[in-house]
Amino acid sequence: MTDPVAQRINLLGLPRPELTAFVAQLGSQPFRARQLMNWMYKRGTGSFAEMSDLAKDFRARLALAAEVRAPEVAAVQRSADGTRKWLLRADAAQAFEMVFIPEPDRGTLCISSQVGCALDCSFCSTAQQGYNRNLTTAEIVGQVWLAARELEREERIRIAAGVPAAGGGSAPEERHVTNVVLMGMGEPLANFRNVVPALHILLDDFGFDLSRRRVTLSTSGLVPQIYRLAEETNVALAVSLHAPDDALRNELVPINRKHPIAELLEACWHYLDEQNGRSVTFEYVMLDEVNDSPAQARALARLLKGHPAKVNLIPFNPFPGTRYRRSPTAVIQRFRDELLQRGVLATTRRTRGEDIDAACGQLAGRVIDRTTVRLGNKVIGVAVQT
Ligand code: SF4
Repeated sequence: MTDPVAQRINLLGLPRPELTAFVAQLGSQPFRARQLMNWMYKRGTGSFAEMSDLAKDFRARLALAAEVRAPEVAAVQRSADGTRKWLLRADAAQAFEMVFIPEPDRGTLCISSQVGCALDCSFCSTAQQGYNRNLTTAEIVGQVWLAARELEREERIRIAAGVPAAGGGSAPEERHVTNVVLMGMGEPLANFRNVVPALHILLDDFGFDLSRRRVTLSTSGLVPQIYRLAEETNVALAVSLHAPDDALRNELVPINRKHPIAELLEACWHYLDEQNGRSVTFEYVMLDEVNDSPAQARALARLLKGHPAKVNLIPFNPFPGTRYRRSPTAVIQRFRDELLQRGVLATTRRTRGEDIDAACGQLAGRVIDRTTVRLGNKVIGVAVQT
């Protein structure tokens, strides 16, 4: 017998037009979709019974046909620096991760788009796990919904108990989700079909109502999908560059063999033109004696000078079995100074959540049942869901 619950539609996976169509199928007016979104995203409730301004018979029909279900939490870890990592179930065996990073001026949630990743970047812990599957739109949106709810609930408890906000002094840390980055496990543009509707829900006034500058999609460089993204949405774009030349980038980010740096940069400038965006952020992980020399900084500056680009230098976060080491602090500073002297905006990312393996590039989740071979030195034909 089929499980009736398995057939329910998870409303977290429906952007407003689809939700409106779904509501119409249930015999209701379009404004009901906006009411539903108000309950789900503004008030953080997933219980139809609590949605008191919806007619009782509509709520009864919803309860039969739909649900609001975030991914199940398998474990939560808290870092001494306030960073928090959730391990979320994809099924009985697989898991993926998301991380919340509180800072005085923002609360950033780093979410995943796939269970594992097939792109096999050589410095990335997720890559070591292989790839299992794409997350659904509901699983992507559900991460934000879950974290926002959990953080709101804790804030209410803290305020009621009169406990001062963490961070202390004049700059307490932000405890709400103000920014979302798709920079967790997976390559978001390899899961285009599910990621784009999720972006629409994040930006929708009736959804999470985040400004386009507070939602960042980070890609390793799937060039055709960057062009398509420019037609579909206008979120901020970040690119995992990590090397100033194709020979080294081919090694660090194998997708470069299919879409080399010149092609990638052209796609980035096109994205900015189309979206009237401010700049593209280029992530550059600092690997000791691999990509961190002054000559490499100068080569990077030559690539980016005169373009609306920011470079974010990321001290490498080691994970078990890696062959790389973190560049020394002085080397990172010198690299940054070389860029700044040549007119390229550059910052160094402060490492957060290292004690719980929540730092950038450390997300591993649990990817057991690999259904796709990793790229490695083999093919560069990525399974892309369009
Ligand atoms: S860096 Fe990103 S694209 Fe590369 S393997 Fe890791 S998760 Fe995948």
